[in-house]
Amino acid sequence: MLILGGTSEGRQLAQLLAADASYRTLLSYAGRTENVVRPDTPHRIGGFGGSAGLASFLREQQFDALVDTTHPFAARISANAVVAAAQTGIPLVRLVRPGWQAVPGDRWTEVLTMEAAADALGDTPRRVFLTVGRLEIAAFARAPQHDYLVRAVDVFDTGLPRARVIAARGPFALHDERKLLEHERIELLVSKNAGSSATYPKLEAARALGVGVIMVQRPLLPSAPEVETLPQVVAFLRALHGASSTKRGV
Ligand code: NAP
Repeated sequence: MLILGGTSEGRQLAQLLAADASYRTLLSYAGRTENVVRPDTPHRIGGFGGSAGLASFLREQQFDALVDTTHPFAARISANAVVAAAQTGIPLVRLVRPGWQAVPGDRWTEVLTMEAAADALGDTPRRVFLTVGRLEIAAFARAPQHDYLVRAVDVFDTGLPRARVIAARGPFALHDERKLLEHERIELLVSKNAGSSATYPKLEAARALGVGVIMVQRPLLPSAPEVETLPQVVAFLRALHGASSTKRGV
């Protein structure tokens, strides 16, 4: 199985399948973060060279299935996976975490793009907590009047005139998120609708403190077989393998 990773689910799936001798997995990372936490299952790092490169890789290494566990905002690799699967005839399954839904007490403004998120902050200077990832920060150059607290996996130069970066990796606890928002006197939070439980506490803290949230909606992906949980991925793979895997009780 080639597992397109970069999420905790990808790592968990590789670990789950490592326990069964009928599966061999290779977990693939883009190599975007400097401090990759190396898994103890087989893995590789780096792009494939578009959909054609991914198709060649799948053929050459004779994979039987492709599992896309990438982040819901990693639209390019997910689209490449659809094309490469179609070109090679290798079955693809995509693991999609359900998106977060606003609940009573939330003060969300939902937007479609990062530029729209920057505009939604308004003209008045605000103290803004940006949790959108390093690659999306450039969109906020159009709103330089705000004070930004940026949280990312690695410290980096934002290029924004009034920004501070804190490096941190989830999961985050509600108590800590609440303390951070209070201590930094955050007025608005910007988030992608990632849907991860590891990063949900910031939204609970915002709700508790009445902090507004600019929520960027997910990009649309080309259609592919989708499941929502790891057991469902395993069931999909088991169905591909047929009765022999079922007997082993994957
Ligand atoms: P992207 O825009 O969809 O992909 C850009 C390029 O990066 C792809 O065309 C591919 O290069 C390479 N790539 C992406 N994921 C890869 C993987 N798992 N293995 C090998 N190559 C990969 O992706 P992105 O938004 O930059 O995200 C990069 C990685 O970070 C993904 O693995 C994703 O799961 C993870 N991540 C992303 C976000 C986010 O908000 N976007 C958040 C958390 C984690 P080639 O075309 O050369 O193959």
